[in-house]
Order: sequence, then C-alpha cells, then structure tokens
Amino acid sequence: MTETLNIKVTKATSSKLAGVDFDNLPFGKTFSDHMLTADYADGEWKNFEILPFGDIGLSPAISALHYGQAFFEGLKAYKHADGKISVFRPEKNAARFNKSAERLCMPALPEEFFIQSIAAIVDMDRNWVPTKENYTLYIRPFMFATDPYLGVAPSSTYKFMVLLGPTGPYFSKNLKVKIETEYTRASEGGFGFAKAAGNYGGSMLPAKKAMEQGFDQLIWTDAKTHEYVEEMGAANVMFVIDGKLVTPSTRDTILNGVTRESIIQLAKDFGMEVEERRVSVKEVLEAIANGACTDAFGAGTAATIAQVAEIVHEGKTYTLPNPSESVFAVKMRKALDDIKYGRVEDVKGWNFVV
Ligand SMILES: *Cc1c(COP(=O)(O)O)cnc(C)c1O
Repeated sequence: MTETLNIKVTKATSSKLAGVDFDNLPFGKTFSDHMLTADYADGEWKNFEILPFGDIGLSPAISALHYGQAFFEGLKAYKHADGKISVFRPEKNAARFNKSAERLCMPALPEEFFIQSIAAIVDMDRNWVPTKENYTLYIRPFMFATDPYLGVAPSSTYKFMVLLGPTGPYFSKNLKVKIETEYTRASEGGFGFAKAAGNYGGSMLPAKKAMEQGFDQLIWTDAKTHEYVEEMGAANVMFVIDGKLVTPSTRDTILNGVTRESIIQLAKDFGMEVEERRVSVKEVLEAIANGACTDAFGAGTAATIAQVAEIVHEGKTYTLPNPSESVFAVKMRKALDDIKYGRVEDVKGWNFVV
C-alpha cells in the first residue's frame, strides 16, 4: 500500500540561488533554499514539512549528541540535457536507511515516505540542480534521537531531515593510499554496515594521521588480522586483477554501497567476471607487483570512481599502471554517468525522475 504523504510547505521569502558561485562549490558547504523535517513520536512519523533552510532548536540533552543515535544517507540528483531531473536508485538508500535505523535501535521510516520526501524537496529546489557537466545536487537524508534524556537508552522521539546542496565535480586526482594496519573502522558484530554517525567520527583520527604522513586516503583492513582489505575511506574498494573485477564481499563490517552494486551489475553486462569474496592484502600487493592488477579504486556516490595510483603497505610502495589510461575505470565511470545524466536509455530503471 502506498500512502501519500501530506507535506506542509513554507516557502523561503527570497532565494539564495543568485548568490551562489557555481564555479566554486566545495562539497557540503552550500545549502539550497529549503529543507525537509519530520518528527517521530508516539510510535508514528508525522509533521512532514518543507521550510526555509536554517537553524533548528534542540535541547542540549538530546541523546543523539551524547550516545550517537544518529545516522545518514547520501545520494544525488542529476539534470539531463532535456531538463529532466533524476535521482539515482533512491529505493536502495531507502532500504539501507532502515538497516541503519534497525541496528541503532531507531524507528524505521516507510520506504515510500523516504522517497516521497526526497521527491518533494528536490522538486521544491529543482532550480538548484546544476546544469553544468559533472555537477550534481547532493541529497543528505538523516535521522537522530531527540529525547532530552541522559539515560543510555533508545530515545522515544526522533527527527528525520533532508538537506540539499549543489556540488561540483570530484577532480579525480589519482590517490596515494595507505593500507591501515593499526586502526580499524569496523569489527564483526559491530555496525560498520550502517551509515552510523559514530563510524565517521571514529575514522577521523586515522585519516588525519594518514594525511600527515602524505597519503590522500586509507584502505581499511579487518579488525582481527589486518590481513584482508575491507573499504577505502568512506567508499567501497574494488580491483581489477587478471581482467576480473574483485571486491570484498559485503558483511557486517562493510557498507553495502549503491555504487559498488551498480558497478558489479554493469561489469557483468560488459561480460566481465566478478568475484565478491574476501580479498587479502597479500594477494592485492602481489598482483600489483607482478602486473596482474590493473585497477584499484574507491567506489561511492561522492566520487563515483576514485582511482588509486600508489598503495603503501608497512613502508613499501606499490605503484599501479597509469590510472588515467585505465580501460576499466574510465569505461565504467562513463557508463555510470551516461545513465545518471540520461545520455543513454535507462534500461535498468535506475533513474527516479522527479
Ligand atoms: C556511503 C559509503 C559507501 C558508498 O556507498 P554508496 O551507496 O555507493 O554511496 C561506502 N563505504 C562507506 C563506509 C560509506 O559510508
């Protein structure tokens, strides 16, 4: 049954759009004119509302701030040449939203509410979807606990919100990455598969240290042995080894990325063999050393495909073939963008048109 949401709308009295420099859009700093909010109380979602983007008043005792009952999603809206606006596979994010909610003892949001909320706010601020090639409107849905109560217990009230911000192209500087063998991002039985706020807070120190050592990014390994590759920063990690697409299989320590899953489907369509399994650090390093590994990249909504130039493991550097000449990554990035920007027929039904 599809319930239609009743969303109250309060329009901004003036638009900030004219003041935005679309040639200078660092990620996450520019927000559109409106935002969406909803409340969970007495066991139901209510008060869906679109209102001007701005500060919200909250008690300093809300449990999200103290105990991290908070998580988010990230997806994008794209403008096609004919002016149509589409969001890429939002039903995937809706489903993952509820996986995160469940693990953090937070209420589910009906998937149709998630999708209708995104459709409504993107439609409201549709003039904010950039027209320029490789520019997008980033969509940030999130949920957090709002009980003003310092007991360590699940909140009984929550807020769901959606923010929008135009964002520029991710300049794919080829990355120098470090295999992390000291810190861990996620452990078995934990919540690495959820887009829980705490996962990102915990990754900042290791990332800062890696940057101080001259790296752009780090590759996380398993908590128990540090012998298996898991993810790259806040993206999934993939390799092409002996012409096959090889990527860690999803498990409770790995976030099930929409980009990852889309790349796997397209690679299979290209006739490529795909292996989703445990991937050892040793195997990857040997394959780079003997030339069998031609591609290493991070896969996620923000960067689509972020190619790796060098991997360093315990002080030893392994250099990949020139990433800009990579056949796979270049072809895959184009295949994904062609779908998202409506340049090819959307045979898989991945574009949700707003
Ligand atoms: C968001 C995220 C990804 C990528 O997921 P997409 O759905 O492709 O954007 C991968 N790993 C982590 C840890 C993430 O937070």
